Amino acid sequence: MSGWLAIAGLGPGDDALVTPEVTAALAEATDVVGYIPYVARVAPRDGLRLHPSDNRVELDRASLALRLAEEGRRVVVVSSGDPGVFAMASAVFEALEAGPPDWRALDVRVLPGITAMLAASARAGAPLGHDFCAINLSDNLKPWALIEKRLRLAVDADFAMAFYNPRSKARPEGFARVLEILRDACGADRPILFARAVSTPDEALRIVTLGEARPEMADMRTLVILGSSQTRVIARPGQPILYTPRFAGDGV
Ligand code: SAH
Repeated sequence: MSGWLAIAGLGPGDDALVTPEVTAALAEATDVVGYIPYVARVAPRDGLRLHPSDNRVELDRASLALRLAEEGRRVVVVSSGDPGVFAMASAVFEALEAGPPDWRALDVRVLPGITAMLAASARAGAPLGHDFCAINLSDNLKPWALIEKRLRLAVDADFAMAFYNPRSKARPEGFARVLEILRDACGADRPILFARAVSTPDEALRIVTLGEARPEMADMRTLVILGSSQTRVIARPGQPILYTPRFAGDGV
């Protein structure tokens, strides 16, 4: 039997947000490879081998998946959200490009998932309804200076911004610096969304202004969205609506 490799997104947490395509791939799989908490989201069954690994070993994990597919196994590499957004799909292609030429003939597919910024945006309203960008605030894989440069340019372009990996215990000071830069550049009134553990039982949403935002409002399970200069808050009973209008003039 010929093997294959599917790099699949499990969505933000809720089973209802896993696509039928991903569910079908998992049902046919012989092996599931991924970071420990993501593999834990896959129901065990007879004939399915689980290969959980630590977060820092992306390339080893990618090579393992490619070797298993080469041996004829049906392998699903799992990521949270979408596998192409700050996740395993790029790691698999890096390993494939650097690996033996035979790997290029393997049946490799990427199965999309609902990425955290889209799940968070949907919960809050439509903050990403006009032009936006996504920035990973972790400096594990890039220099901090590059993060600051991109932030300043994104403010200059008046994008709404989605921030992944805003803050970890290992580098708590980075996000405080990000908030300072944004407050200086955008002013204290700009709305900012902290969306934690969206679509899980721990979900918590908070819409505040940059003046009110505190670094402790984010952790590694939080997706942060900063509005553009056009983003609006509609007050109403309960959770307000955060949205960015479709139209922007040239005066921004
Ligand atoms: N591939 C994933 C992102 C991995 S980076 C995706 O497409 O969503 C991990 C970061 O994603 C976390 O630090 C957090 O910022 C965000 N994230 C993932 N799941 C989330 C959720 N359910 N709620 C809020 N943020 C989430």
